[in-house]
Amino acid sequence: MKRNGIVVEDLKKIYGSGETAVNALKGVEMAVMPGEVVGLVGPSGSGKSTLLKCLGAVIEPSAGSMSVGGQTIYDGRWMVRDLRALRRDSIGFVFQAPYLIPFLDVVDNVALLPMLAGESNAVSRKRAHEMLEALDVAHRAKAMPSNLSGGEQQRVAIARALVNRPPVVLADEPTAPLDSRRALGVITLLNDMARHYETAIIVVTHDEKIIPTFRRIYHIRDGRTYEEQGEGIMTYEQTAEK
Ligand code: ADP
Repeated sequence: MKRNGIVVEDLKKIYGSGETAVNALKGVEMAVMPGEVVGLVGPSGSGKSTLLKCLGAVIEPSAGSMSVGGQTIYDGRWMVRDLRALRRDSIGFVFQAPYLIPFLDVVDNVALLPMLAGESNAVSRKRAHEMLEALDVAHRAKAMPSNLSGGEQQRVAIARALVNRPPVVLADEPTAPLDSRRALGVITLLNDMARHYETAIIVVTHDEKIIPTFRRIYHIRDGRTYEEQGEGIMTYEQTAEK
């Protein structure tokens, strides 16, 4: 699969029909390149969750088009037959809470995704280990999630989102519960991972601590997106000086 990031054109989503119809997305335009981390920012009710669910192939848009990794996945209708495989192989998800499986150790939490994609046990664990190493938590491979710190759990969750090398990662408020230093740590990590694995990463956030780190921000208001050039990644010290 070519790694062309994610491209969204004139995306619309209408919930319901007739008098009670809600136009949640009114023509969203977005393009995120491999290696890029962009912010998606907007007030409550502006359409962030709806857009994320459409991008993640969790709900069906009403019109427009979307492509992921160079493959058109939606063009007025779904263009791929197996949406579950698409979500599993092409889109990584990172949430506010890590949602690790409590009865699997760290390496199995990460290895589960390649296994579900049909890889052997041995290959899946090897890939999981490599990803844990990249995220600096390989020394915790045999630990159970409940024995990890919050920061370690979030790293494992990021490893899991990236292990199948998806062209796109969608992160929903990934830093909300973290203090400034840890929040900026997660963003630095996402930037490093995006560059290293040529992943396009979209971070939905309200978090004032991390908004200055984005080179590009999509603001969403009333179902439409507006692009802004951001300040770009800063170090923790620079942010603290502001
Ligand atoms: P945000 O995530 O920015 O808070 P949402 O995407 O949840 O915004 O909502 C956008 C608009 O779509 C809001 O007006 C909301 O009430 C409406 N909406 C969201 N989900 C549904 C649904 N399942 N049915 C009907 N309307 C919905």
